[in-house]
Amino acid sequence: MKYQDLFQYQSEAMQLLMNAYQKKKLVHAYLFDGETGTGTTDAAIYMAKKLICKETASPCMICDDCKRIDAHMHLNFLYIAPEGDMIKKEQIERLIHEFSMSSFEDGPKVYIIQDAEKMNTAAANSLLKFLEEPNPNHYAILTTTNEKKLLDTIVSRCQLIHFKPVPKTYLMSQLQNCGVDTDIAYLVSFLTTELDVAMKYIEEGKITNFLNIAKKIVDKDIKHKDPYVEYYRNRSYFLEEKDKAYHRFFLDILILMYQELLKRAMHDGQGYFEDTFQHIQLEDVNKDDIIRKLERINVYQERLNYYVNLDLQYTSLFAKL
Ligand SMILES: [Zn+2]
Repeated sequence: MKYQDLFQYQSEAMQLLMNAYQKKKLVHAYLFDGETGTGTTDAAIYMAKKLICKETASPCMICDDCKRIDAHMHLNFLYIAPEGDMIKKEQIERLIHEFSMSSFEDGPKVYIIQDAEKMNTAAANSLLKFLEEPNPNHYAILTTTNEKKLLDTIVSRCQLIHFKPVPKTYLMSQLQNCGVDTDIAYLVSFLTTELDVAMKYIEEGKITNFLNIAKKIVDKDIKHKDPYVEYYRNRSYFLEEKDKAYHRFFLDILILMYQELLKRAMHDGQGYFEDTFQHIQLEDVNKDDIIRKLERINVYQERLNYYVNLDLQYTSLFAKL
């Protein structure tokens, strides 16, 4: 997340940190707790620069200190992230070793532990001992997506700062700036809050394929033609997809499309799926009928939680949508 966006979307957390910094009341250990995409690690790096950058208006982002922090090459800065899916004791021991030696560089030292909940027990216990003997010029920033997964003893040694979920519109505007189609950006914002993950979904192509099929099905349906024909045409594509998450998501796309149509009929549309809905006479839309369809799709989506014959499911759904 860009730094100016951090101050917009996480204004409370950032203000709290800035006030503590200005009053010289920063504590020696922080725990930033927030879902992925909420900017916890960006905020941690921002704080490391704030402390280490020697410019008057720190962080300047362009000095040697700031650049070396970005490159993880600063001697007063250490960034620890999970290796594989775990933070191991050796990683914490290396941190303790480096922070126990006298510095080559003056000024504060900062270490960040990303996804601290992934420390194994041995790593967590080593860190705990280190946190219990704070050096006044050392700062720890731990980030987590779930503080409840951390040892209570570690949480109690840190000042906990919550990062709020970021609105879908933020990811959507980032995706649109990358040239992603509005409808795709809208859909993918239901799957993730992270730009990188969203781009991976988009590059995989399945969302676009499912959206195109969904648009044809809904188009046929609202024109009182047989939507089953579109399913039948793409039947092998559906049946080859073994990951139920995608089937659930395909039904989500249908739900979002009918919801948009319903909103348009009530003059509250958000402008999505414009190519499908632009020629619809809104006065012809039967709202009760759409609500019934939505309920029906929901029932089929529920059934995906159990073992089902996908072909039968879709055939039955589209035979009388
Ligand atoms: Zn700087």
